[in-house]
Amino acid sequence: MKLESNEPTGDIAGRWDKHRFDMKLVNPANKRKLSVIVVGSGLAGAAASATMAELGYNVDCFCFQDSPRRAHSIAAQGGINAAKNYQNDGDSVYRLFYDTVKGGDFRSRESNVYRLAQVSTNIIDQCVAQGVPFARDYGGYLANRSFGGAQVSRTFYARGQTGQQLLLGAYGALSRQIHLGQVKMHTRTEMLELVLVNGHARGIITRNLLTGKMESWAADAVVLATGGYGNVFYLSTNAMGSNVTAATRAYKKGAGFANPCYTQIHPTCIPVSGDHQSKLTLMSESLRNDGRVWVPKKSGDTRTPVQIPENERDYYLERRYPAFGNLVPRDVASRAAKMACDEGMGVGPGGRGVFLDFKDAIGRVGKDAVSARYGNLFDMYERITDDNPYETPMRIYPAIHYTMGGLWVDYNLMSNIPGLHVAGEANFSDHGANRLGASALMQGLADGYFVLPYTIGNYFATSGQGKVTTDAPEFKQALKDCEDRTKKFLSLDGKRTVDDFHRDLGKICWEHCGMSRTKEGLTQAIQDIGSLREEFWTNVKIPGSGAELNMELEKAGRVADFLEFGEVMCNDALAREESCGGHFREEYKTEEGEARRDDENFCHAAVWEYAGYGNTPNRHKEEMEFEYVKLATRSYK
Ligand SMILES: Cc1cc2nc3c(=O)[nH]c(=O)nc-3n(C[C@H](O)[C@H](O)[C@H](O)COP(=O)(O)OP(=O)(O)OC[C@H]3O[C@@H](n4cnc5c(N)ncnc54)[C@H](O)[C@@H]3O)c2cc1C
Repeated sequence: MKLESNEPTGDIAGRWDKHRFDMKLVNPANKRKLSVIVVGSGLAGAAASATMAELGYNVDCFCFQDSPRRAHSIAAQGGINAAKNYQNDGDSVYRLFYDTVKGGDFRSRESNVYRLAQVSTNIIDQCVAQGVPFARDYGGYLANRSFGGAQVSRTFYARGQTGQQLLLGAYGALSRQIHLGQVKMHTRTEMLELVLVNGHARGIITRNLLTGKMESWAADAVVLATGGYGNVFYLSTNAMGSNVTAATRAYKKGAGFANPCYTQIHPTCIPVSGDHQSKLTLMSESLRNDGRVWVPKKSGDTRTPVQIPENERDYYLERRYPAFGNLVPRDVASRAAKMACDEGMGVGPGGRGVFLDFKDAIGRVGKDAVSARYGNLFDMYERITDDNPYETPMRIYPAIHYTMGGLWVDYNLMSNIPGLHVAGEANFSDHGANRLGASALMQGLADGYFVLPYTIGNYFATSGQGKVTTDAPEFKQALKDCEDRTKKFLSLDGKRTVDDFHRDLGKICWEHCGMSRTKEGLTQAIQDIGSLREEFWTNVKIPGSGAELNMELEKAGRVADFLEFGEVMCNDALAREESCGGHFREEYKTEEGEARRDDENFCHAAVWEYAGYGNTPNRHKEEMEFEYVKLATRSYK
């Protein structure tokens, strides 16, 4: 597997400019002759589709929801980062770059991260121009709040609905192009296969989720903007439909899967309450601006929070990390919560919770000010738990939230399969081993609005591929493979439901590849997932037919892919004998329980190559070099 990062050289601040100048352009008349398939219409896919269509390319955009505006990006609550430095508190492009590389525990590519910080400021301008209603301060400037892992306020927000508002902006831009006929939007349509011709990505096979019709689509390039794979854990803060199918199909066709074990655990979610759940609810990290995290000092303390006096509370984040306090990055905050609960200080049923307390903030700025900042989150919490967070602290616990791993891409966001580009959460770039809050929206929009539309032109201008049609034998074969797979699912007639398998897979992954991992646990997990996968293919029950709306059939395809992917993820976690960011191996920690990185042996992205069904995949490396942000132990003390 060839892994050329194609990063430009020279001074980091000038690399993107230099690259844009060096890339070949496609003239406007020729753009009209070129077509792009974009799978996904979340922030990354909608932004990419709209922008490429504005440039003149013919775009076919696919999503499995009934409307692009229901993509999972809609769920993002907290905000989006940008180095605008409106408050003059010391922010800059360089500081955002620095914080992101450090926050990602030195496992991301410097050139990409610098570009991300650079274009972050354009994103805000574009979104404001689209009418995104960001919060404003008294003088009319856009307001900012702070997020974990940063000591400046650089997070732009629209109350607790930032993702939704940004998506409406991107959806507006996309709709304009749908109206003009430059984007053909295919909703309720799921990509089931990637098609390569002459080693280049030239199309996809889809299933119409309402009629069951399978179809082939050909284009000059393919973009996957299909989101993350957090649902491999079954319980997560992701939308239930989020899946790894598109990425898995590309992986099985030869695309490298980078750092699959880098999962982000979010510290502020509503704790699991029983076996009936299929989803966990996030309480935005922005709450840690004003909320103070604590547990009782005494183990097994069953008093209500109001009955526990100040001197019997442990504000453990403020105690352990005085510089960042409650605003330490997510991986650090999550592990600290787990440690407090493991030591018996956890609160609520099962002792798997810590308090997030707003009493001091309400005393300081008043209930109205707190409500203006977080009102909808407080209402949501109350509806779910029946507790009023204005009066009693919230109970929170870490949950799976985001995946930093994804398909490997170079600086142009192209995978190792020529023509296959990957954007947003579906690619591995920019966040390294841990994502700082408010950086995913930034990356999705950077990729979609400001990177891909340039770099895809360079691919067209240099790839020299002629036209193909869906009559090519590669399309026929791929279509047949999809039809056979569907027939196989429907013929199984086993005893267990798809959800039942998914739940079991999730338990294995959370137990052994979740907040902390060990060699023994991961070895066991790989075995257990293998057995579960074998059982799935003999004992799953899928009612109904393939020629109708059949959600069990849809789920079966996704869970089958999760089962194969779960093994890749655990293999990756096993091979990485160090702790860094969202990857914490119990064997590699400091005396204080902090992550111990091994830069000598693991300062690389691990990229996995498919080796056939049931076989251990092959591991490749892209070495990471740190020229500007010097490798150092991460400390938030
Ligand atoms: C609860 C929650 C809160 C968050 N809050 C924040 C925040 O405050 N700030 C921040 O920066 N980030 C936040 N994030 C992360 C951020 O929302 C996501 O990383 C980001 O929105 C992902 O965007 P995307 O465009 O890559 O993918 P998505 O929005 O997930 O879109 C995926 C698209 O791909 C389509 N798709 C997938 N598979 C297929 C297939 N096989 N066939 C056809 N279509 C397919 C879907 O239909 C969808 O259109 C949050 C995440 C969650 C879960």
